Amino acid sequence: MSSQSLIPHKRDAFVNANYRFLIHPDSRDTVDVVNPDTNVDWDNVEQVVVSAANCSNCPVCLSTPSVPRMAKCGHIFCLACISQFFTVQANPYRTERGCPICMKHIERCDLRCVRIIDCFAIKSDKKMSSDDDESDQEDKQDDEQTDEEPSVKPGQTVDFCLLHRKSDYVFVQPVPEDSTNTSFRSNISKKIPFVSTKGVLEFSRYMLATRKHMEAEFEREQSTLEIEAIESLTLKDANQLGTVTKCIQEIETSNEGLSQRYSTDSNSTSMSLAKTRASWAAGYRRATANPTRPAGVGQDYYFHQAVDGQYVYLNSLNIRMLRHEFGDYCNFPKRFSLFVLYTEEATITPYIAHLPLYCNITFALVDLSGVVSEPTLKRFENDMAQRLDKSKPEP
Ligand SMILES: [Zn+2]
Ligand SMILES: [Zn+2]
Repeated sequence: MSSQSLIPHKRDAFVNANYRFLIHPDSRDTVDVVNPDTNVDWDNVEQVVVSAANCSNCPVCLSTPSVPRMAKCGHIFCLACISQFFTVQANPYRTERGCPICMKHIERCDLRCVRIIDCFAIKSDKKMSSDDDESDQEDKQDDEQTDEEPSVKPGQTVDFCLLHRKSDYVFVQPVPEDSTNTSFRSNISKKIPFVSTKGVLEFSRYMLATRKHMEAEFEREQSTLEIEAIESLTLKDANQLGTVTKCIQEIETSNEGLSQRYSTDSNSTSMSLAKTRASWAAGYRRATANPTRPAGVGQDYYFHQAVDGQYVYLNSLNIRMLRHEFGDYCNFPKRFSLFVLYTEEATITPYIAHLPLYCNITFALVDLSGVVSEPTLKRFENDMAQRLDKSKPEP
């Protein structure tokens, strides 16, 4: 590990803020579980988890990335497209090039598998969206959103679930729907959870990869490529068929290598590797610690977030209403679907201080009728009216 790669660049911060990471279990000690602004060490990443809302089309073929791979710069390509990009050269064995988008130096060995998480929490109300002729004319798909567009708009409905986290760590867990006491709190620890743990793939910034998970991912990718191979054969596209066949072989090799990468026998050597990495990680943490970030010690935080892991949270006024109705945060409803009245881009507040800077966070002011009682609605009626009034554009 060269010291140069430890210098935090803006691009690394972008990757850190927008994506979540599966880490090899042997590297677990290198992950900063306290400071969310410490950039992940790319060498330890097994797979990158990306919300479909943050995934743009492959810049080479302009389609939704098929068998996606991420370069270190954060750009996502189809495996077949990026493989072809590396080989279309005077030297067919060339393994490094400039990224076709940002020109940052990328290497084949730095490409990482990507798991795209479908967006399903935000739904458009048909009645409302028919008034919104402009967006119809643009004929835009949800997955073609750009970074500047807010992920949720007034008139949409969002499915939220209640999450819990300890103030000291970056990990969150969904509050079990049937929980009547707070015993689930002890399930969360400072240890990185395995990807197979419930709620982890949707909400955790870091998770530990398992051999079983990676095998399933490679098998899924192989099936996709096999279909592409048949298509190329039908279209008599020999060039594409050659590329796809090579990609299938490449994944096969990676799949076969899993038994070694995830062998339990390698514990002794991998532990010393983990120790070395842990020591520089500690130094790096100290160097990059952000003293201005809001923090609490040993506190339990509860908050609602969109069920598919998108960074959509409730407006502070809604939280006050829920507190008035339900008292303690842990008594808040575990899941609900709410109609959005107004949205605003937000800055990090204590309960979501586990998110890195540069995240696109949206606070939604929602209609809580049906969730809280009439007296509660009445009590906050004026505040709601004032908040909604402020949101209207000045005449
Ligand atoms: Zn492509
Ligand atoms: Zn790039």
